Amino acid sequence: MNIGIDAGGTLIKIAYMEHNSLILNKFPVSELAHVADWINGRDNARICMTGGKASALQSLIHLKAPELVEFDATCRGVEYFLEKLGVTESQYVVTNVGTGTSIHLIDSGQHRRLGGTGVGGGTLIGLSHLLTGLTNYEEIIQAAAKGSRDQIDLKVSHIYEGVEPPIPGDLTASNFGRILQGASHPPFSREELLASVVGLVGETVATVSVLAAGQSGATTVIFIGSSFIGNNLLKDVVQRYTKLRGAAPLFIENGEYAGAIGAWLHE
Ligand code: ATP
Ligand code: MG
Repeated sequence: MNIGIDAGGTLIKIAYMEHNSLILNKFPVSELAHVADWINGRDNARICMTGGKASALQSLIHLKAPELVEFDATCRGVEYFLEKLGVTESQYVVTNVGTGTSIHLIDSGQHRRLGGTGVGGGTLIGLSHLLTGLTNYEEIIQAAAKGSRDQIDLKVSHIYEGVEPPIPGDLTASNFGRILQGASHPPFSREELLASVVGLVGETVATVSVLAAGQSGATTVIFIGSSFIGNNLLKDVVQRYTKLRGAAPLFIENGEYAGAIGAWLHE
């Protein structure tokens, strides 16, 4: 049995086939030893690994597992999903919003890393914790979904105040920039602060992705990564901003498993 493992900075993703169905599982990276025990208990398994914590996992398991470069595995996994979805586009950008954010160009089966940003899922939970004390991902995204950014983020239209701006007034001029300029002042509610953190992360990853796509002539940006799990607010922000800036966003269900699937497919 083949098992593909993507051990990332925050979550370990696992993909394998059982009884003709693809099983996808994830564990926090703090449970690396538990994942190693699970692997060590599977005698006939052929393991292939990828991700920044793959070497750490390798040191805990009995057999020697081949290791793939994370970006190769991820892009292979994205191709797998697109085949299943019947998407035939040959040129697109893949933005992986993991702990950090990594941006790749896929063009006729070849891929190249275009860049990235340190603003990603780690920022989402780290900044959220600093602002509200929350640590749990689910709690953070549920509270964020109830918040309004109106009093915290400064829009272009706030600066231009009734005058026609040269760019859409709805664009954010400054994330968190309204805090000392608006009618209300701190303290803001937990929900408002968290919605604004999601806004900051979403708008940053969308903007950087669209600029990267523009540079390479691609118009579709595929967004993957666990930061989108259960996080419709982040999806909405990214979708809106990507469209507003002229590219076509695509979200892949279970896309956070692309790296694990790429490793699982390795012969
Ligand atoms: P990287 O690829 O950057 O090394 P990774 O592969 O671990 O990291 P992902 O699993 O794609 O990254 O995404 C991690 C992010 O997903 C977290 O930073 C957080 O925002 C979000 N997330 C989703 N579910 C959880 C969870 N159960 N626990 C913690 N974070 C979660
Ligand atoms: Mg990852």
